[in-house]
Amino acid sequence: MSTRSTRLARMGRPASGWANTPIVKGSTYLFDSLEHWRDARRLRDTQRVLSYGARGNETLHALEDALTELEGGFRSQLFPTGLAAIAATLLACLKAGDHVLITEGVYEPVKRLCATQLANYGISHSYFSARDPHWERHLRPETRMVYAESPGSLLYDMLDLPAMARVCRPRGIVLCADNTWGSGLAYQPLALGCDISVVAATKYLGGHSDVMMGAVTASQAYFEAIENVSINLGQTVSADDAFLVLRGLRTLDLRMQRHAQSALEIARWLAGQPAVKTVFHPALPGDPNHDLWRRDAQGGNGLLTIEFDPGLPGAAIEAAIDRLQLFGIGSSWGGYESLVLPVDPARTRYAGQAVAPGYLLRLHIGLEDPADLTHDLDTLLKALSTLSPQQAIA
Ligand SMILES: *Cc1c(COP(=O)(O)O)cnc(C)c1O
Repeated sequence: MSTRSTRLARMGRPASGWANTPIVKGSTYLFDSLEHWRDARRLRDTQRVLSYGARGNETLHALEDALTELEGGFRSQLFPTGLAAIAATLLACLKAGDHVLITEGVYEPVKRLCATQLANYGISHSYFSARDPHWERHLRPETRMVYAESPGSLLYDMLDLPAMARVCRPRGIVLCADNTWGSGLAYQPLALGCDISVVAATKYLGGHSDVMMGAVTASQAYFEAIENVSINLGQTVSADDAFLVLRGLRTLDLRMQRHAQSALEIARWLAGQPAVKTVFHPALPGDPNHDLWRRDAQGGNGLLTIEFDPGLPGAAIEAAIDRLQLFGIGSSWGGYESLVLPVDPARTRYAGQAVAPGYLLRLHIGLEDPADLTHDLDTLLKALSTLSPQQAIA
């Protein structure tokens, strides 16, 4: 039972009876005496007991247990979205006067959350580049948390989490990672030294573009604070949604292997195309993050970003993107289907410099046949190569 495929087939299942955890729906939970009711209310401060719908039920507990096993933490807490899980983690660990240091390549809504909500509560934040070898100089006396997304959104910069943990731990700074890229399988932030791992289950864990959910898995020292935010802010998830994520887990390994294999194949092919200047994909040899990826990750996923030749006009690229047949245009990723979305250069500035002068496009490589996807992308690139030199420099 040591391999991950085997564990995924068993985690979060009832000990006997139904092969799949049933969907349990309920608000009121009945007790047979006032004594049992009082016992449950006393125990629920330290243990997971059934007491009221907002505190979870058998379906939610099964998913929490599975995620705890996958991420390797003390316990997990579910939230209605990935962003809600991130917000709860920040609120659980920070108070007025504290500072949080965040990686520049972070999922964009986190920046808005910090600049508006957290700023109102007297919590300050600043950013550091994953490429800065002296990143510790950005720590302040009031820094209470380092919030790391590794690999980061859009350009997949990886962090040396074990080295960061060695800096944070003696200073009592909590190290939190957004593990949506790895989704519990391809990357293990808690094993690499983090205290908290947050995952948008909306992506690969759900895997079918039909459910929103987030989860936080923490070490024992931080779990209670996170559970308290869930209770105090009344955050819970529906059993139907938890069931969908549990169902997604059964095929997570199979799906991620296919996403990763197809994405690497397509990344290699794109890297050889004249219209493509750069391919960002840590599993691709030659990517600046490749060595860290080999050391710390157990697999890849379907995400890659390309930078078009800076000489190509954005309008022509966008017209060609609109004609793609197999790639949908839409937010999110991690489902079975292929997607593209432009990357706004203003949101991907590293140390005040735009990273790439060319047009940036993020691709999510889905479960379709990679030969068909390559054909679709080839049509896009061919449309660009027929531009006259004047059009190309316009
Ligand atoms: C999508 C995403 C989230 C947020 O997930 P939602 O469920 O959409 O709120 C958080 N982090 C990363 C890296 C993501 O890609």
